This record gives sequence, C-alpha cells and structure tokens, in this order.
Amino acid sequence: TPGTVGFIGLGTMGCHMARNLLKAGHAVHAYDVRPEAVAEISGAVPAASIAEAARAADIVITMLPDTPDVEAVVLGPGGLADNPPPGGIVADMSTISPQAARRMHGLLAGRGVELIDAPVSGGPVGALNGTLTIMAGGSAAAFARARSFFAAMGTTVTHVGGPGAGQTVKLCNQVMVAINIQSCCEALALARASGVDLAQMREVLMGGSAASWMLDRLGPAMISGDASAGFRIDLMLKDLRLVAEMAQSLAVPLPGTALVTSQYVAARAHGEGGNGNQALFRVYDRMTNQ
Ligand code: NAD
Repeated sequence: TPGTVGFIGLGTMGCHMARNLLKAGHAVHAYDVRPEAVAEISGAVPAASIAEAARAADIVITMLPDTPDVEAVVLGPGGLADNPPPGGIVADMSTISPQAARRMHGLLAGRGVELIDAPVSGGPVGALNGTLTIMAGGSAAAFARARSFFAAMGTTVTHVGGPGAGQTVKLCNQVMVAINIQSCCEALALARASGVDLAQMREVLMGGSAASWMLDRLGPAMISGDASAGFRIDLMLKDLRLVAEMAQSLAVPLPGTALVTSQYVAARAHGEGGNGNQALFRVYDRMTNQ
C-alpha cells in the first residue's frame, strides 16, 4: 500500500530515489536547503522545513553528504528528533560514520523513533533505474516496515544487522570500490604510455577476468577525460576517512586502502575534488607526464 515519505536531500542520488518513490505510488514531501533541487522533482510536495517534510510521513528518508549534515537534520534545531514523523521511522541512506549512526539510533529511540541506517551502492545510474543495493542496519521490525519503500529504489535490499551494520557493510564496499578504481587507473596508465588503443583495450578486458563494474562504468570517462561528477572525489575522501577511523578502532591494517587514499588526496590537491571518481586517472596522467 502506498504511503507518505518525507525526503530530505534531493542531490545527485536523492533526486532519482525520490522520483522512483513517486513512480511506485508513494506521496513524497521533499526538503532540501537548495529549494531549486526540490522544484526539479515533479509530483513531489515541496516542504519549507524538515518539520514540514516529516509532519505526515510514514517514513523520513535522508540522503545527505556527510555525518555532520545528517546529525544536523536529525538532532539539530528544528530537526527530526524534535519533529518526529508520525510513522516513527527514519531511514538515513547517506554514507556516514557507523558510530554516529548508532549514537543517533539511541537518541531517536528515546523519542519513540526507529533509525535505520540504509546506505546504498550503485551510483547515480542505479539510483535512476531503481536498481540500488541497499544495506540496512536496525531492528528487524523497523526494516520490515521500511522494506516496501526501499523496494521502490533498489533491487538488492538486505537487512544486514543491528544499528550501524548498514554503514559498516557500506564502508567495506568502499574499500573495494576505491582499490578497484585504482586498478583501472594503473592498467590504463600503462596502456596509454605504451600507445595501444585504450577504448579497444577496455572492451577486450571487459570480456575477460579483469572485467569490473568500474572498468565498465568509469572506464569510458577515464579514457575520454570526461571528469563530470557522478560520485565526487570529495565524497570518496569522506568515505576513506570513515574507513580509516573504523580500521584503526578495530586494529585492522589496510595497506591497499592507505595507498589509494594518498592518490585521492593528490587528486583533491590538483583541484579534482568536485569531479567524478574517474578523475583519479588524471593523477596518473600527471605522474606519467601525459
Ligand atoms: P549531493 O551532494 O549531490 O546531494 C546532497 C544533497 O543534500 C544536496 O542537494 C544538498 O543541498 C542537500 N543538503 C545538504 N545539507 C542539507 C541539510 N542540512 N538539509 C537539507 N538538505 C541538505 O550528494 P550525493 O552524491 O547525492 O550523495 C549523498 C550521499 O550518498 C553521500 O553520503 C554519498 O557518499 C552517498 N552515495 C553517493 C553515491 C554517488 O554515486 N553519488 C553513491 C552511493 C552513495
């Protein structure tokens, strides 16, 4: 049965996710600090505040950049803790600190609201097509109630454990994503220097054991030099910081991740922070004087 969703954060990912909720028949009350982002979602009811987005909601979904943004929307003045949705569920689908997710889960529980941390993988294309992978942490009961909303946005929708477990799984995902992107960059740098046809090589490799989601989706933009943002370098640096914090607190050495993090720092130093992750290849271009 269709419900009412308060949706907060209509950026690169959130705009598509909100549209898919509307397509599935849900009402969407949308709020963003950029009103122009809300205006682009036809069919959504624009909300002038967090409270207005939450007022009639069965569930409030947040899709914001970083931990402090989610904390501000949940705990800050005029936030969700003071204006809980009548349905009693908040699903944060941003990628943030697992510890912060657990802390907010506890604070909201005191207000009768269940927080589900439900970050996603699949990029803007997955968001557009409604084929995201959604990894949810929280109580089984809250997940059961949120499931039909998640199903409008994703195809692999899984309850992976208690509070914080969704963020934990997402950070493991990002370890593989970052190293995978680096592996594409290194192979393409070698190929470019040797003079072979990069586009043809990419196609050939997609047929063999080096095939990957990254080579498939980001490879063409790496080769053509199109740096337009889907998943920004800055957001990956945020994720790598969260991974480093988690790895240190668990005493797990991640040498490969440490290495690729340096390359991302170099990318940002070269002004690539607002560009898509394929712009990591430009760091290799510079190192090889291409
Ligand atoms: P984005 O910056 O494009 O969108 C974030 C939106 O939140 C913006 O529209 C911004 O105006 C809004 N916002 C910021 N602070 C706000 C506040 N206090 N109140 C209301 N609105 C506010 O980011 P994105 O690429 O959509 O990513 C969102 C989250 O999803 C991030 O945590 C990111 O790491 C994660 N993620 C992104 C991708 C991707 O490919 N872009 C993929 C998977 C996960």
